[in-house]
Amino acid sequence: MHQINCPWCGPRDENEFSYQGDANCRIATQSKAPEEIEDLLYFRPNPKGLHKEYWHHVSGCRQYIIVERHTLTHEIRSARLARSPQNQEQS
Ligand SMILES: [Zn+2]
Repeated sequence: MHQINCPWCGPRDENEFSYQGDANCRIATQSKAPEEIEDLLYFRPNPKGLHKEYWHHVSGCRQYIIVERHTLTHEIRSARLARSPQNQEQS
């Protein structure tokens, strides 16, 4: 079992968290054609390597965090709050 280092709670077992999706993908639906939105929803890249993902600490603080995880080894490189000002600037 892998552990995720929650910024609020510290290291916790992965089973306390729920995967919430790709943190690299932001969909602004107003400016896109329906075909573009369909592509973003159903034809996403499946990268091999480090990947940013949203996780929800369901059995803990209930915060949403961004986890940087290696898709091949499942190594977790970092975890930070998704709602921090630092992450707002990246959108
Ligand atoms: Zn937590």
